[in-house]
Amino acid sequence: MAGNPAGKVAVVTGAASGIGRACAVRLARDGARVAVLDLNGGEAEGVAEEIRAAGGTALSATVDVADRANIDQALADVRERLGPVAILVNSAGKEGFKRFLDITIESWTSILTVNLTGTFHCCQAVVPDMVEAGWGRIVNISSSSAHSGQPYMTHYVASKAGVMGFTKALALELGPAGITVNTIPPGFIDTPMTRRNEERGFFGSTVDELAARTPVRRAGLPEDIAAACSFLVSEEAGYITGQVIGVNGGRNT
Ligand code: NAP
Repeated sequence: MAGNPAGKVAVVTGAASGIGRACAVRLARDGARVAVLDLNGGEAEGVAEEIRAAGGTALSATVDVADRANIDQALADVRERLGPVAILVNSAGKEGFKRFLDITIESWTSILTVNLTGTFHCCQAVVPDMVEAGWGRIVNISSSSAHSGQPYMTHYVASKAGVMGFTKALALELGPAGITVNTIPPGFIDTPMTRRNEERGFFGSTVDELAARTPVRRAGLPEDIAAACSFLVSEEAGYITGQVIGVNGGRNT
């Protein structure tokens, strides 16, 4: 697959950490010129530096996907320095664990705004470039919890189920323009988010114990998601759109 998106500009959100970081590194290795966007600008720049040190092309920006003006400003800079955007991976995400009756409207709104509205903002901001080019690839990172449900996460699961519906609807609308839109719901990927949740006792179990109960007998790696993402943004995935491509070690079938 190496070199497949060669020269194309890829924007990855939440790319300072975990799944977003792995997608940014992988797409750069495949030949894309990558914009590494994240709330954590310093860490995003560290990922961009890592890509450049490996011979790739990358820049970073501090971006809050909940803030449309911030996104538009960052993308203007990306277009000026790298060119029009051909590939978008929406990985920025925020989780929460609360009993349903304890979820405040502020927390509900914040999670919906980052996970679902953030995906909307980023797609709307880059689709004109893709329409102009007659080619585009969008991959939205949702969650296996939207397949299975998850107690104490009604706000998070609702936001990720929203991302799945959004993906299907947008795929139908953008298909005639040469743009594919798919979603990967990761299941149990060993990332900083997962380790934070383990430490807080949210799993009621350890990562190792959960891995032992996973059909493939290991936790997923961010690189597992990046590999699926690499395929979905490739030329040869052009007939795959509006799909939910689970990457979860068999935890959800
Ligand atoms: P992660 O390691 O915490 O990475 C997420 C990154 O997104 C962090 O750098 C985070 O910054 C950033 N971010 C959060 N809010 C943002 C915002 N408003 N604007 C821009 N960046 C923002 O988490 P991950 O496990 O890689 O998760 C990546 C995606 O996969 C998320 O959408 C998550 O819901 C989804 N997912 C993960 C799993 C899993 O097993 N790990 C399972 C299902 C779904 P901060 O650290 O400052 O928040």
